[in-house]
Amino acid sequence: MRLRHKPGAKDFLEKHPEFVTLNPTDWKGKWGKRFGNTHPIHLEIGTGKGRFIVEMAKTYPEINFIGIELQTSVVISVLEKQLEEKLPNLQILQLDAANLKEFFEVNEVARIYLNFSDPWPKNRHEKRRLTYRTFLESYSSVMDNSGELILKTDNQNLFEYSLVSFSEFGMTLKEVWLNLHESSFEGNIMTEYEEKFSKKGNRIYRVIATFNN
Ligand code: SAM
Repeated sequence: MRLRHKPGAKDFLEKHPEFVTLNPTDWKGKWGKRFGNTHPIHLEIGTGKGRFIVEMAKTYPEINFIGIELQTSVVISVLEKQLEEKLPNLQILQLDAANLKEFFEVNEVARIYLNFSDPWPKNRHEKRRLTYRTFLESYSSVMDNSGELILKTDNQNLFEYSLVSFSEFGMTLKEVWLNLHESSFEGNIMTEYEEKFSKKGNRIYRVIATFNN
């Protein structure tokens, strides 16, 4: 089924409340009940079409994954994949990650992935970057004591900007990869953008940073 550009996209999401959480504020502090277990919760913000989060959920059944994506037209691609897999440990949310504390309790989230986030290169768009300090505040408001933010990108400017932003926010850089695909890192799960940009020969950067809340 291909509904990507169809006006009925929202209806399609609403037809699958078992996989798309339509009322996420109701689950604040109760996501364990939503999944029926107490496994750690990992978010991906800006899932795009969802290859990464679906593969992660298949590979790590002992983790509960929640994919967050702003654009309805893109979220339906994640739902299409989930309807094929029917993974019990994956929920999809269509919302803006700017205010995560509306949807998650303090310490409810153990890890957040940002993959190939839009770089917003113009200075006047800095506030839209998913590693701008207001977004870091949003993430830190829902993170574990040892909560990790894991960023992967091919955009050197966004990567450098993010390292500075993390540091100014008082975060600790735990591990940094300046060329992930040429490194000894094992078990990398590629995103749609990662495949596209690495095929062009772009270097992939990765960082794990902690909030030390
Ligand atoms: N992660 C995917 C990948 O690597 O293939 C998609 C990357 S795409 C460049 C970035 C995605 O982030 C877009 O689908 C966009 O809609 C989403 N996004 C941007 N800002 C967002 C926000 N504030 N909350 C949720 N999603 C957001």
